[in-house]
Amino acid sequence: SPSRSSVIIVGAGISGITAAKVLAENGIEDLVILEASDRIGGRIRKENFGGVSVELGAGWIAGVGGKESNPVWELAAKSGLRTCFSDYSNARYNIYDRSGKIFPSGIAADSYKRAVDSAIQKLKNQDTDHRGDVNKITEPPSSPKTPIELAIDFILHDFEMAEVEPISTYVDFGEREFLVADERGYEHLLYRMAEDFLFTSEGVILDSRLKLNKVVRELQHSRSGVTVITEDGCIFESDYVILSVSIGVLQSELIAFNPPLPRWKLEAIEKCDVMVYTKIFLKFPDRFWPSLPEKEFFVYAHERRGYYTFWQHMENAYPGSHILVVTLTNEESKRVEAQSDEETLKEAMAVLRDMFGPNIPDAIDIFVPHWWNNRFQRGSYSNYPIISNPQVVHNIQAPVGRIFFTGEHTSERFNGYVHGGYLSGIDTSKELLEEMRKENERKSENQTLL
Ligand code: FAD
Repeated sequence: SPSRSSVIIVGAGISGITAAKVLAENGIEDLVILEASDRIGGRIRKENFGGVSVELGAGWIAGVGGKESNPVWELAAKSGLRTCFSDYSNARYNIYDRSGKIFPSGIAADSYKRAVDSAIQKLKNQDTDHRGDVNKITEPPSSPKTPIELAIDFILHDFEMAEVEPISTYVDFGEREFLVADERGYEHLLYRMAEDFLFTSEGVILDSRLKLNKVVRELQHSRSGVTVITEDGCIFESDYVILSVSIGVLQSELIAFNPPLPRWKLEAIEKCDVMVYTKIFLKFPDRFWPSLPEKEFFVYAHERRGYYTFWQHMENAYPGSHILVVTLTNEESKRVEAQSDEETLKEAMAVLRDMFGPNIPDAIDIFVPHWWNNRFQRGSYSNYPIISNPQVVHNIQAPVGRIFFTGEHTSERFNGYVHGGYLSGIDTSKELLEEMRKENERKSENQTLL
């Protein structure tokens, strides 16, 4: 018969590992972590590319230098992670048109200001719409049309919403962002955490409570416990489950719940948007782009919104690496995931030749992550509609019987970030510990009654 543990944690990303660590520190040692892939880290994942470590998922520690200290920044400091300061705001002054000319900074600054004002206006209108106050609705702001307007709209909405509305990450932790540039990868933080409570040897986790390549397909839950069934036919039993899979996975059919999740839960899960964010890495034999730090981010203005718009050179992080990164989002990400890497390379090279001329060398290597088509991710991170009811995230987070939910998407203040995943892991495990304490109390009361 299957062995029974106190808690099963599904998923070994930052939230799952953090939750397990807090439980272990509080005396819950009989836990099992089931991870679908062959590694820990989830959306924190490095890849050796072009001679260096590049981050396919989370790349930045966002929110540093403010009134409160970002806990992930502290973890990074403790484990000596190498980071570089990033200044996104330069991007708007490095906008190339299709003939390779950089828009004069005055024009770029004006367009940027107009875009910010218009986004703020749009938000206000949505807010009045939301409250049903028809009298106050003003003219809708005009939508972006020219390539530079489209490029700025893309930067603003897909990268810099902090300029439009207060985002807790930057309000609480500060406005600075640091790129992780460490050969051991961002994931080194997770390995350091795992070492504190799992048996490891020479950086390898050997603890049998961590089970890799275990794809959870079904959760049977009742008042007395949870049975977890994996794709390879294994059965695990526990008193409680902490489910840390992404919002995209919750929206998919990967995991069946028996009995099914209640309607309030399903409705909340449907209401959260999934953002797809894809960093495409290109390796060159030589550098042909300006490598100054203030040219780290540059932008391509095309008549199609989001078409290879946002670029970064890696010379600040890894001088001499000759690597460029271009970021695509949402529909463009999905489109690129569906085509071959050769096709993507051709498109990217045509864009670079528009910006830097026909004589630049071809890339010698390309890496295209597939976050959307990865059935253990189904997207990059959660994105709650700006004017959304706080009840939605509460319902996404709320336990259903013995199943507890964690992960970046359950963080009310920091969803979409590594620190959101980390803090949610702490919150969920504390909530579960409290529930376990109450259950023990109830049990001992019943025993005294008998
Ligand atoms: P995950 O890391 O997704 O962990 C969940 C785990 O569950 C995964 O390991 C998965 O394999 C596993 N799993 C899924 N289904 C099953 C199943 N059925 N059975 C068993 N296991 C399963 N954040 C930042 O702070 N800064 C950034 O710069 C940044 N950039 C990002 C860029 C990209 C491209 C992406 C994808 C994300 C980025 N993020 C960034 C967000 C950040 O990576 C996430 O918020 C965070 O890592 C999520 O952690 P998590 O534990 O909630 O989920």
